[in-house]
Amino acid sequence: MNGTTRPRVERDLRSDDLIVVAGAGGFIGGSLVRYFAEQGYTNLRAIDRKPLPEWYQRVPGAESLCLDLSEKESAIAAVQGAVEVYNLAADMGGMGFIERFRVECLRSILVNTHLIEAAYRAGARRYFFSSSACAYNTDLQKDPQVRALKESDAYPAMAERGYGWEKLMSEMFCQEYWAERGLETHIARFHNIYGPHGTWFGGREKAPAAMCRKVLEAQDTGDFRIEIWGDGTQTRSFCFIDDCTYGIDRIMHCDELIATPINLGSSELISINDLVSMVESIAGVELERSYDLDAPKGVAGRNSDNTFIQQVLGWEPSTSLREGMEKTYAWIGQQYADRKAGRRVVTD
Ligand code: NAD
Repeated sequence: MNGTTRPRVERDLRSDDLIVVAGAGGFIGGSLVRYFAEQGYTNLRAIDRKPLPEWYQRVPGAESLCLDLSEKESAIAAVQGAVEVYNLAADMGGMGFIERFRVECLRSILVNTHLIEAAYRAGARRYFFSSSACAYNTDLQKDPQVRALKESDAYPAMAERGYGWEKLMSEMFCQEYWAERGLETHIARFHNIYGPHGTWFGGREKAPAAMCRKVLEAQDTGDFRIEIWGDGTQTRSFCFIDDCTYGIDRIMHCDELIATPINLGSSELISINDLVSMVESIAGVELERSYDLDAPKGVAGRNSDNTFIQQVLGWEPSTSLREGMEKTYAWIGQQYADRKAGRRVVTD
């Protein structure tokens, strides 16, 4: 199934109902604002703490505000009049970031804590939280041939220190706001989202973007070598951004998924070595590989079990990795050329 055959989303929203997206200066938040604009919604409020010129995407017609949502007053201002609130704001990055900056990751709990309370007090109809596969028990992810993670695998809890525990705790906030206060919340556990308009250099980028950039650098400099973090046998699945934005919409507007964490990821598993080969083949080069065994590499293996999403939505992310990586490589190639020519590009 691809974008053209995705089932229509049933929503009880008017086209001028206010939709608030937190973290909209970032990769997924910015893509979500664009997605809703393309769906015909005209009252969109985009919020991020980054100064506006540093946002990855600015959607024409959306109200774009620079606010630090870890501050209570900002959170209150952000959600005034909101019908739906999507929390995509977090201090995050690839393994290089989340293994080094656990305090920053943990502090994102302030954003969700203030935002959900403010959304509740403002009378918002629905609240979405972007959780992560890092919330899963890490003991289940020590083997590259890992069995795919299903939703119940988060407990007994042994999440990724810092980032994963913040996600697990914020999920619980969402569940209890529904149980105790009746605020309708929805929670998706994203598995490695990638695609155009994401970070591709600067230290927060994830494996797919990092591989594209390294291959482009090799071609540009004529130094046909590539360094891989870890031994390259670690496995992951990667979900294309268009599947992610559509999936968020479906999950937010499904009554069976109130306060119920659900995987939003692809089930196409690949090793990092094979991901490098895929990018090489897209670029038409072959590079000499070296392995940095001391670099951050995360868990040995991780995949998304999509049984539950298939059961409730009759859909799962299905853009093939090859198709998504071709689009991502083309976009990063353009960014690379722009940066070289001195034009402004997406960074952190
Ligand atoms: P991103 O870093 O591109 O975007 C996050 C944005 O949140 C940034 O622009 C940042 O400035 C903003 N932000 C951080 N703290 C803020 C604050 N106090 N106030 C206002 N804005 C703040 O990351 P992303 O990839 O777009 O991720 C979006 C969400 O999805 C995050 O919650 C992340 O943890 C989650 N997630 C992403 C992935 C992935 O693969 N990209 C995987 C799992 C979960």
